[in-house]
Amino acid sequence: MTIAVFPGSFDPLTNGHLDLITRASRLVDQLVVVVGQNTAKTGVFTPEERMAFIQQSVQQLPNVTVRIESGLTVDFMHAMHATILIRGLRNSTDFEYEQGIAGMNRHLDATIETVCLMADARYQFVSSSLLREVAKFGGDLTGLVPPAVATALQARLGSGN
Ligand code: ADP
Repeated sequence: MTIAVFPGSFDPLTNGHLDLITRASRLVDQLVVVVGQNTAKTGVFTPEERMAFIQQSVQQLPNVTVRIESGLTVDFMHAMHATILIRGLRNSTDFEYEQGIAGMNRHLDATIETVCLMADARYQFVSSSLLREVAKFGGDLTGLVPPAVATALQARLGSGN
């Protein structure tokens, strides 16, 4: 059985993440979406809130589960017998970043294979950080995040706060 992990900050989940989760779920037997703590980023939503958004959005994907982890990706992958690490590429900046992470993870555990999926053209410009900026100034998030995420983002960051 092939088990893959898709780790990320998901602060919050976007439709770009969701597209990647859906596509990756077709490639493997089990996909575990892991909400991690990116030490370089401070969160708008707690890990529990981020996990809840993802859980609500993957209910129709029976082989996808969600959990929160801290520590090294290779360590929790080893513990859950996962061999494939899924990441997404939107542009050359992502490529440079992901190349570094993949190289380090290969150094730490050569049995783990990083598989990068190209972002769908509809979501190439979609990032959690940009969406947080748009939400702050009341911009329209329709089509970019699940409706529950749009509501929560506006409530937390919108100009009424
Ligand atoms: P991290 O802090 O680990 O980069 P993110 O939540 O920002 O966490 O991203 C997780 C993964 O999802 C990364 O590999 C990123 O490149 C990918 N990703 C983010 N947004 C998109 C998108 N719109 N389309 C495809 N992949 C994406």
